[in-house]
Amino acid sequence: MGRIYKALMFNDEISVSLLETTDIVNQAIEYHNLTPVCAAALGRTLTVCSFMSTSLKNNNDSLTVTISGDGPCGHIVACADSDNTVRGYVDNPQVDIPLKENGKLDVGACVGKGSIAVIKNMGLKEPWRGSCPIVSGEIGEDFSAYYTYSEQQPTAISVGVKIGRDLKCIASGGLIIQPLPFASEESILKCEELLSHFGAISTLIETIGFDGIIEKYFKDIKFDKYETSYNCKCSKDRIDRVVLTLGKDELYKICAEEGKVQVTCHFCSKAYDYQKKDIDILLSENG
Ligand SMILES: [Zn+2]
Repeated sequence: MGRIYKALMFNDEISVSLLETTDIVNQAIEYHNLTPVCAAALGRTLTVCSFMSTSLKNNNDSLTVTISGDGPCGHIVACADSDNTVRGYVDNPQVDIPLKENGKLDVGACVGKGSIAVIKNMGLKEPWRGSCPIVSGEIGEDFSAYYTYSEQQPTAISVGVKIGRDLKCIASGGLIIQPLPFASEESILKCEELLSHFGAISTLIETIGFDGIIEKYFKDIKFDKYETSYNCKCSKDRIDRVVLTLGKDELYKICAEEGKVQVTCHFCSKAYDYQKKDIDILLSENG
């Protein structure tokens, strides 16, 4: 289970969000068999997505983030619901590229140049859509730019994922700062002062832990607390609808050639098999 802590600080003029998403990244690694650099790229995106989910107010609200870069990992897709569950995938989870000279994972090179698109379904007639060019591909900076340009909300985002030698995630999390429109120069300066003492978020989680961060930097702050987790909501019903879009002729053709129709969920890699008799039933029920 991951955690999202949100609070207003500095005279209630600055919104601060802290996230711990280590379990979410480990679940993504387990489902997708991610290389460390892909785990970092998807993990940082899922962390931002967890944060974004707190802006969804109604039960059925959801959002989808698509990062379309020209780097070797291909698209990164992440979704979130109003219950703060997230899920995601990367086109090419096995891609590996050399570390940067400083020994860090080269997420920027893995993602490449392109654009970010965000779609929010909030029960309105049309979904809300926003987009922004990729700045560096390092994810945090890209979403900072997204919020500033597309949502007109200046936002500082620091997200980090640390992967161990066993290819599991040791620490993952985020720190997101948003000054409210009426924030004074004084509060912004105080916030910058606090941040100047703040290390890399994944290193802090690894060394002093999430509770240690709260204790050290935010001792007397009263946070709103949310749980966040990786949760795929695929079901036979949903996959049935995907299968039906292939059309009768194509379905029977695949059945004849391969013995069955198999659809694999992008988000959790679960395989759904349809034998010819299952196709018969599905088509007769939806004819
Ligand atoms: Zn699934």
